[in-house]
Amino acid sequence: MVEGIYQVRGFDLSNMTIVEGDSGILVIDPLISAETAAAALALYRRHRGDRPVTGVLYTHSHVDHFGGVRGVVRQEDIDGGVPVIAPEGFLEHAVSENVYAGTAMGRRSAYMYGAALPTGARGQIGAGLGQSTSTGAVGLIPPTLDVTHTGQSETVDGIRMVFHLTPGTEAPAELNIHFPDHSALCMAENATHNLHNLLTLRGAQVRNPHVWAHYLTEAIRLFAGGVDVAFASHHWPTWGRERVLAFLSEQRGLYAYLHDQTLRLLNQGLTALEIAETIQVPPALERAWHTHGYYGSVSHNTKAVYQHYLGWFDGNPAHLWEHPPCRSRHPLRRIHGRGRHHPAPRPRFLRRR
Ligand SMILES: [Zn+2]
Repeated sequence: MVEGIYQVRGFDLSNMTIVEGDSGILVIDPLISAETAAAALALYRRHRGDRPVTGVLYTHSHVDHFGGVRGVVRQEDIDGGVPVIAPEGFLEHAVSENVYAGTAMGRRSAYMYGAALPTGARGQIGAGLGQSTSTGAVGLIPPTLDVTHTGQSETVDGIRMVFHLTPGTEAPAELNIHFPDHSALCMAENATHNLHNLLTLRGAQVRNPHVWAHYLTEAIRLFAGGVDVAFASHHWPTWGRERVLAFLSEQRGLYAYLHDQTLRLLNQGLTALEIAETIQVPPALERAWHTHGYYGSVSHNTKAVYQHYLGWFDGNPAHLWEHPPCRSRHPLRRIHGRGRHHPAPRPRFLRRR
């Protein structure tokens, strides 16, 4: 990508980035599974030599950015002083996103990514962010070095990094990294070559595009004038100062537009469903390739903005307490083995008349 920074793409949903230091390598985002991470590291070593891992960095709290860590380092390496760097709040959010509602999210992810489908034109051909979610051994080694503020700089094995903390963007704990000696910028998952999700279909807390756009503006202001390449933990890098600036500006404009226009329309009285059918992306953003919905969509993202500000209720009393769908294989009926659609009779004072 640039002298001293390499990326392994196509081994999992996410990319692994490797930065060469004085005596070893810094691994950024070790994929989902130990198996794919180990294979990615082996590919790098076949081309660049058998360098030891002298640092690990998680850009954010989603599993495709830390789950394969045990494929690149052992706990003994960490105990021996290899740092694991992450944004402040990483561990708390990694647990809350993957454990609290993890059972439901895991089930929904299976449908969202289709990882169990056979690969090929009639099955799985990609998941928008990358190949697919791998299904190997997922692990986590807790961070040993927290990034707590923008401007914090750390040097690991001779690699200078200046951090840009971006909480509440694509993930609740996330950071961008400027490498001043490489004129390179890692945008984590804050700027990828698509319209990302404001509310991922596997289910998660709604992301705030206003905050997202704010931090993209800050990244432009802090770094864009001095970088020759911007890369992320999904998709491919963008080379050239002008192209990096255009890319980041259009990404910023996209999230800001969806936020502002959804607010304008909901304040006019439109519901989420109506906004999704009304809103149109302006020509300047429509012309760019990377602003299109290869992963998120304008439709479900505008509904997410509505949900963020107003919640699920559209204000119509007829929609306040709707009947649940009747289905022959209702999940709760299967559990209780009885032919009713509610898990239990409601208390008398709550029953509808
Ligand atoms: Zn990711």
